[in-house]
Amino acid sequence: MTNRKTMTTAAGTPVADNQNTLTAGPRGPVLMQDYQLMERMAHFNRERVPERVVHAKGAGAYGTFTVTGDISKYTRAKLFDKVGNRCETFVRFSTVAGELGSADTVRDPRGFSVKFYTEEGNWDLVGNNTPVFFLRDPLKFSDFIHSQKRNPATGRRDPVMQWDYWSLSPESLHQVTTLFSDRGIPATLRHMNGYGSHTFSLWNAGGERYWVKWHLKTMQGIQCLPNEEAARIAAENPDFHRQDLYEAIARGDYPRWKVQVQVMPERDAETYRIHPFDLTKVWPHKDYPMIEVGVLELNRNPEDYFAEVEQAAFEPGNMPPGIGASPDKVLQARLLSYPDAHRYRIGINYAALPVNKPRCPVHTYHRDGHMRFDGNGGGAVNYQPNSFGGPADDAGYREPPLRISGEADRHDHRAGNDDYGQAGDLFRLMSEEQQAQLVGNIVGAMRPVPREIQVRQIGHFAKADAEYGRRVAEGLGIPLSRA
Ligand code: NDP
Repeated sequence: MTNRKTMTTAAGTPVADNQNTLTAGPRGPVLMQDYQLMERMAHFNRERVPERVVHAKGAGAYGTFTVTGDISKYTRAKLFDKVGNRCETFVRFSTVAGELGSADTVRDPRGFSVKFYTEEGNWDLVGNNTPVFFLRDPLKFSDFIHSQKRNPATGRRDPVMQWDYWSLSPESLHQVTTLFSDRGIPATLRHMNGYGSHTFSLWNAGGERYWVKWHLKTMQGIQCLPNEEAARIAAENPDFHRQDLYEAIARGDYPRWKVQVQVMPERDAETYRIHPFDLTKVWPHKDYPMIEVGVLELNRNPEDYFAEVEQAAFEPGNMPPGIGASPDKVLQARLLSYPDAHRYRIGINYAALPVNKPRCPVHTYHRDGHMRFDGNGGGAVNYQPNSFGGPADDAGYREPPLRISGEADRHDHRAGNDDYGQAGDLFRLMSEEQQAQLVGNIVGAMRPVPREIQVRQIGHFAKADAEYGRRVAEGLGIPLSRA
């Protein structure tokens, strides 16, 4: 005996034959009235949603976040009101430049996005495995990404475009140094750190605001892949990182990260020697030491890749009361661009999809729109103010006001900015072996690039650290005097 279910159409009507198309005679032609054939072909044609322009290739898993350190004096977020609090999470890792079918083990930053389903709504920390980024002004984002994607004429990725853009954008140097370091290709998604990268804020019930930087430190230890090993894996198994994460969780080897935060009192931002809202800079730990916050553990695989990982929608603007944004220009642009991308990619009602849906009740006045599948609010009142007990705003959740001043202008973000100091610090903290890898990786990547661009870029390396510049120049056979 079998209790196999009867196959149906999408409307639930039983299917009598899923092997043979309805035809006029055994040799055809097909009859238009074969509704089932039409339905199956039409649905198949629409199986893909547009892939993300960046961060297309990803892997994801559910997990648990547990608070282990008390930061309640900085934030009123209920998640942090006592040590021991827990919430469910969903994490999506990704490469940046490659398409949905690209190889995992390429040199690229990795997206590291965490959705915390808190009792006061979702908190999305949408970060990377690097503490900084290639730019500090969001107007440059699409230019930067174009330079890293495919050449419009050849349809190939193009080192000339990449190094041309970088060499003309010195603010990228810190991140370029990170990217070409040993950490530029993580061994697995479990063996890399995550960073919120931007400066965010925390605010407490007393109306005090603090600027913060989030860090997620791998408890598996940092492990990386050298170029040759990464290339071999990419050829043999382009889904290597996806497979590793899935299998580790399936066998109960749950990856974990220590969540830590650096905290700066609001007024320090006015006098701190480093521009605190510059996405190309870190805050040295001796200035703002790491504070323990919690542990993130991934312990449950998704059941359906498309439904959960592909439809996962993270947005930096998802912040429960007590957590806030900052004047970081790139963060501000992302507050708009992420939900905008989701509306385009998976539709206006993306927040109601199971992977994105908050675990707490949601009371909005949103109605209708494509693919409304959650009851649409039923007969509840759909405007506000109203006399019928509809949800109401609550001033108790008001964020403290932020003092802002200045002249509205297109201020030159490159003027007077030190693009070299922290890139040099990174070079100097590397071991001899790491420096040799960095230089080797850069020299290999820059070989196909015209001499003029090589010389310009070597000038940047040399400004970060004379030794850094000298070794890249030597590797490319260029006298340092020319750079
Ligand atoms: P610190 O010595 O206080 O911190 C150095 C940080 O660098 C540690 O967080 C360490 O974290 C990380 N690190 C160590 N080796 C490497 C490596 N080979 N590649 C990348 N990161 C590494 O010094 P500072 O805070 O003054 O930072 C010095 C430089 O370190 C910065 O310019 C920046 O490039 C880099 N860095 C700084 C971070 C920060 O938040 N201050 C964060 C990450 C990097 P771990 O080994 O545990 O990952």
